[in-house]
Amino acid sequence: MKSGSFNIKLEKDSIRNSVANRRSALSDVEVKQKSLLISDNLYSLEVLKLSNSIALYSSIHNEVMTESIFKEAIQTEKEVYFPRVNGSSLDFHRIHYLEQLKIGKFGVLESQAHLFKADIKQIDLFVIPALAFDKSGSRLGYGKGYYDRALSNISQSKKVGLSYSFQVLDSVPIDKDDRKVGFIVTEQGIVFSRRKLGGK
Ligand code: ADP
Ligand code: MG
Repeated sequence: MKSGSFNIKLEKDSIRNSVANRRSALSDVEVKQKSLLISDNLYSLEVLKLSNSIALYSSIHNEVMTESIFKEAIQTEKEVYFPRVNGSSLDFHRIHYLEQLKIGKFGVLESQAHLFKADIKQIDLFVIPALAFDKSGSRLGYGKGYYDRALSNISQSKKVGLSYSFQVLDSVPIDKDDRKVGFIVTEQGIVFSRRKLGGK
């Protein structure tokens, strides 16, 4: 490994730790209240309203909760997909109710292999968790690169990150495989990433 990428990994880990500590200090009530505000802000986005199919995630470790987003999506007859770890990537299978999710790898509630699997090009919007984002849409996950790999060819404008406002930093270190989100929704509002033409 080159010394440069080693330093980036150390820097990423240090940011991951500090944000994770701050997030784990949130109370259950704070998580619920902020998650509801974030859901409302997400639903104010035109791109969400126009999406017929969305991918969500199951929250762990005080991540922004997605249950109310799911309920509203089902009520408005959107197709909803949840990820499932498949080797080093993610597959997205459709669910109709949350009880269809089962504990999978890393203790995350996952979609099931027997459920309808999406061609990811057909999903209109991916709602993505993170440990941290920066204002340009760069994202730090848990350090395994699943979303980077699974969605490497999906355009930035189809990716929306959810986080608490303290998770949006001025900048985060990035590698060549890191992919940006087009929007970040927090309890304080929406951050529109600066977009490069043709950016992924
Ligand atoms: P995260 O995105 O979860 O924060 P990192 O960005 O640190 O994690 O990525 C973890 C590992 O996954 C890195 O070694 C990175 O090079 C690798 N990775 C990410 N995307 C790809 C890809 N498209 N192809 C191959 N390896 C990838
Ligand atoms: Mg990454």
